[in-house]
Amino acid sequence: GPAVPNALLRHLNPEQLAAVTLPAQPALILAGAGSGKTRVLTTRIAWLLQTGQVSPGGLLAVTFTNKAAKEMMARLSALLPLSVRGMWIGTFHGLCNRLLRAHWKQAGLPSGFQILDAADSVSAVKRVIKAMKLDEERFVPKQVSWFIAACKEEGKRPADVEQRDPHTRQLALIYQAYEEQCQREGVVDFAELMLRSYELLRDHEALAVHYRQRFRHVLVDEFQDTNRLQYAWLKMLAPPGGGQSVFAVGDDDQSIYGFRGARVGNMADFEREYRVQSVVKLEHNYRSYGNILDAANGLIARNSRRLGKNLRTEAGPGEPVRVHESVSDHAEAQWIVEEAQLLHRGGLPRSEIAILYRSNAQSRVLESALFNAGIPYRVYGGLRFFERAEVKHALAYLRLVENPHDDTSFLRVVNFPARGIGARSIEQLTDAARASGRSLHQSVGAVTGRAGTNLAAFNDLILRLRERTKGLTLREIISRMLDASGLLDFYRADKDGQERIENLEELVNAAEAFVTQEGFGKEVVALPVDELRPEDAPAIGAELLPDAETGEIVSPLAAFLNHASLEAGDNQAQAGSDAIQLMTVHSAKGLEFDAVFITGLEEGLFPHENSLSDADGLEEERRLMYVAITRARKRLYLSFSQTRLLHGQTRYNVKSRFFDELPEGALKWITPRTGFQGAMAFTPRQAWQQAAGSPFQARKEPAPPPLVPKAAPSHGLSVGKAVFHNRFGEGVVVTLEGSGEDTRAEVNFGRHGRKWLALSVAKLTPID
Ligand code: ATP
Ligand code: MG
Repeated sequence: GPAVPNALLRHLNPEQLAAVTLPAQPALILAGAGSGKTRVLTTRIAWLLQTGQVSPGGLLAVTFTNKAAKEMMARLSALLPLSVRGMWIGTFHGLCNRLLRAHWKQAGLPSGFQILDAADSVSAVKRVIKAMKLDEERFVPKQVSWFIAACKEEGKRPADVEQRDPHTRQLALIYQAYEEQCQREGVVDFAELMLRSYELLRDHEALAVHYRQRFRHVLVDEFQDTNRLQYAWLKMLAPPGGGQSVFAVGDDDQSIYGFRGARVGNMADFEREYRVQSVVKLEHNYRSYGNILDAANGLIARNSRRLGKNLRTEAGPGEPVRVHESVSDHAEAQWIVEEAQLLHRGGLPRSEIAILYRSNAQSRVLESALFNAGIPYRVYGGLRFFERAEVKHALAYLRLVENPHDDTSFLRVVNFPARGIGARSIEQLTDAARASGRSLHQSVGAVTGRAGTNLAAFNDLILRLRERTKGLTLREIISRMLDASGLLDFYRADKDGQERIENLEELVNAAEAFVTQEGFGKEVVALPVDELRPEDAPAIGAELLPDAETGEIVSPLAAFLNHASLEAGDNQAQAGSDAIQLMTVHSAKGLEFDAVFITGLEEGLFPHENSLSDADGLEEERRLMYVAITRARKRLYLSFSQTRLLHGQTRYNVKSRFFDELPEGALKWITPRTGFQGAMAFTPRQAWQQAAGSPFQARKEPAPPPLVPKAAPSHGLSVGKAVFHNRFGEGVVVTLEGSGEDTRAEVNFGRHGRKWLALSVAKLTPID
């Protein structure tokens, strides 16, 4: 064939090159972590564009996170001189949103429909349950909301819900009422974005045909984590045998969203249904050194259900994987901070250091240690910026400015800050609105008396804001709203309100950043005139931008509000500065860092206790650990702690079983190996849990009796001894266990109750 046409392809190995330049046919790249799947996918897009096989508008690419989409666009625009703004690259939700914005009418939605995030959707479900006068104990809003999302992800509308008994019949009715309420209020939840756009294509043949002709190339990253509906959506957009090229990349060993309905079986279905000729395997890992890779390979080999593939590297063994044991979660955090500082002083940018954890709740201790040490850090996930209460209040006002009939937003802020509108008046208002089928905004007249006057004043406030912000910039709109709504004054008056005010100010910055990023008011990269497509048209004026698809003019406020709903997972504060990266293992998927700490490697935490009851659950935890390990390029730390305060309870931990599954030769213990699990007796609580068959502890044989002879302990404590503790005051030792560093005591502090304390941490003074 012809010589490699250009520089794009130079940095690929032969297998990768073959994958990138595959002819336009269905293809599946099945390969392990760090083998260059994402690089292959991105390079293929660039290659298709550069060789003129497709125009920027003619392909669609699905990434797993907004962050990944942004990175892909950044890489593309670095590789090629073109405007990537109009390209269909994004998450499933982002792309569905775009489709529905363009075809809202056919989709049966109002033009300015709003997106409910997870929490909003729970409160919407709650309102439905209340209106139906059902018992919230039996129909727990959060669970019902999960149920509805699960139905939608299976493609089921209320009529399709299997009604086995009175309970499921009732659930179907709630689902039905919820759907009606959302429709009335012009809002859609995340699952609805997917299902609605699937139905849009299914029910509008002409539209589907249009997109099938348009998107000659469809590319999907992280295919192993697609759910049933997402796969159906893809099939609708690019049906098997339809002549489009569908290029999917994935790794069965990194399927970690089974708990949320992801179906690793989609890969086998894809191979069969699309008659994939050859499955491309990439076996060379370019990310990590040998020891890190050995650890990953050794661990994942324990899983039984695998498609089977191997990873090798030529990078050499590198450093051993370091294992660290702490006495408490605080000590763990402290050690990480110090170690990270050392790495940074040694020349590593902070952004190349990641601290990973299994559960969001673990981040608080880490955050406070970093904060106290004055080290910049950035949290992904967790309480996301756009999910903070004050930010949501502000967004609710903005939504009302955009659309006064948005009842969810109306209810959120009608009495926040307080305006003398009580629960009874709200109920009256809601009833009136329901009876007349109108919005709350329209039904204010139905409430009489003082509350009625106050409601009318609230309506005036919103309408006035609408009037006075016409034509203003996004920044100006937000500042006016913050003032006029009373939000700023409210938080100023609150002595703990400083952080919230900062977040509100950050909202203005986020809006500003959005305006620049999305190209509002910004010149776009010039293209030759004959290649100009609607999405590349320069912004009109400073403020309005035509929708890429329909040419409809959308206000920057509307665009920003959508962005705020979709932009989950990015803590805007501190964006840009060199900061240590904190995130759950789930949100680390696809990313890589020079140095990685995996924290909290304890039985019950990682693997998580909820997963231990069945083999599938445990295998998913193991894949999660595999994902975590393979994020590291050069240095990897595995860390566990003997005690941890979680959800208000101190847990006494046993190190994760994953340690027994990792190849000994790749590890190095940097704390003395205490043989913690073996020689240490279990605490009574653990013994009890074991006896009770708790999954927390299911695997270990009973500990042998301590070998330590009865030498006089150095702590000078004995059962029955009176002690003093700085926090809990006076108490009496009830139990003593362990020895040396690991000694712990159960102390009865009377008013404060009984507590287990690690003596190496707790300062206990004997009282004579
Ligand atoms: P994951 O499964 O974790 O998503 P992946 O298979 O998508 O991993 P990439 O992120 O694409 O892997 O690549 C891993 C790293 O290896 C990246 O830093 C990438 O730039 C680098 N890389 C990939 N292929 C090559 C190559 N041929 N030569 C040099 N570096 C490469
Ligand atoms: Mg990848």
